[in-house]
Amino acid sequence: MAVQLPLVSSVTAMADALKKGEVSSVELTRFFLERIDKYNARINGYITVDGKSALANAAAADKEIKSNDFKYLTGIPYAHKDIFCTQGVRTSCASKMLGNFVPPYDATVSEKLKQEGMVMLGKTNMDEFAMGSSTETGDFGAAVNPWKDGYVAGGSSGGSAAVVAARLAPCATATDTGGSIRQPAAFCGLTGIKPTYGSVSRYGMIAFASSLDQGGVIAHSAEDCAHLLRVIAGYDDKDPTSVKREMPDYTGALGTLDLKGLRVGLITGLGTGLEDGGAETGRLDKILAFYTDAGCEIKEIDLPALALGIPTYYVIATAECSSNLSRYDGVRYGYRCEDPQDLDDLYCRSRSEGFGAEVKRRIIVGTHVLSTGYYDAYYRKAQQLRHKIALEFAAAFENVDAILLPSTPTPAFKIGEKADKPADMYLSDKYTVPASLAGLPAMSVPAGFEDGLPIGFQLIGNHFDEARLLALAHAWEQHGDREQRVPGGFE
Ligand code: GLN
Repeated sequence: MAVQLPLVSSVTAMADALKKGEVSSVELTRFFLERIDKYNARINGYITVDGKSALANAAAADKEIKSNDFKYLTGIPYAHKDIFCTQGVRTSCASKMLGNFVPPYDATVSEKLKQEGMVMLGKTNMDEFAMGSSTETGDFGAAVNPWKDGYVAGGSSGGSAAVVAARLAPCATATDTGGSIRQPAAFCGLTGIKPTYGSVSRYGMIAFASSLDQGGVIAHSAEDCAHLLRVIAGYDDKDPTSVKREMPDYTGALGTLDLKGLRVGLITGLGTGLEDGGAETGRLDKILAFYTDAGCEIKEIDLPALALGIPTYYVIATAECSSNLSRYDGVRYGYRCEDPQDLDDLYCRSRSEGFGAEVKRRIIVGTHVLSTGYYDAYYRKAQQLRHKIALEFAAAFENVDAILLPSTPTPAFKIGEKADKPADMYLSDKYTVPASLAGLPAMSVPAGFEDGLPIGFQLIGNHFDEARLLALAHAWEQHGDREQRVPGGFE
């Protein structure tokens, strides 16, 4: 069987072809490596490519498949966000601070993907330390949206989304603190899922805001996401916030869930300051019609506290970032300034030179909201609001099985458009941060195109209800209207 674009757009189809011996992992890996050679410079999606190791691992996977000792995704190539530690392979988090950091150990997620026999093609571009919504803040330059030159791929997992959309990998890992899986997935026409907080181990995943950070995946379909999530989720005693319970059967309900009678909550007003023009409600009509025809009951719900998501998130996330990033002091690892005069100079210049502007802004804001005299007004207040948001969601899930809302207020914006306007950039996360604050599973599902750029809609579920979310998304994706195009110029 020839390795062709339709085949490599589905992890599930590739897994079947591998098992049947119709294609080998080496052939698939070579196919992607050639495309990376040809197209990566255009989208700047990968920041490290390790072709030699990839081909060696693919050959090992082929051997396992031949000897009938393999797992479902053995031999499948993937792209890995550069936030996950990979033993022996540079892990920079797109920061100059970690520009020379080669981890001596694997993140649990990296380890699990290896155990499955999957083949890492390379590490993907992102916002520095995952702080951003556009993959512009990192030390490696902006990732470009394959659908439109000059437009952002989203962030912070923009490199992961760009390489999957351009078919430089069939799927990718990603992380989401306030939207970094869902927003780039939406901007690049892909499916992305952030599972319930505590599902995917944070061990070896470089910390931004620990009470929010969660690993997940971006792929071409809910079905592919479900298979990948099965590999990376699960209890890990190396992460104290990892949840000790059996994870949901992510693939179990795909294609079998009865949509009849399912209650889908549609958030109507998102409150003062959060309404946009009519475009986003217009694009939801088709989706609502689909679920209604499938027998779902659409219930309008009002969650007023969600309007407080952005201010709440940007206090909590910056506070945690200021604490987490204090470890980068130029002494133990990471960037160190030249010729320090004394210890203060070493700390001060290493951090000033090693961090980019957005990271510094957040450390300063975070330190301020935690400081004596301001703690009660900002940090404590934000914690109270976070609790209120979680309570509103909990009350909503008494009456609905899933919540539907846009993933993003607009399609992808131009590179540079919001780079100097942090408040505008932050507002672009308004639909994604509420689920993060409540630790709920949420996914972005492709909803079509607007002016040549993809758009997505979001499904939020109750804790550990991923199987239902994935099945709801799968049902929509099976529906004829879905365009599975390859971006122009990447055919
Ligand atoms: N865009 C959000 C931020 O800048 C979310 C980032 C993320 O989820 N890592 O914090």
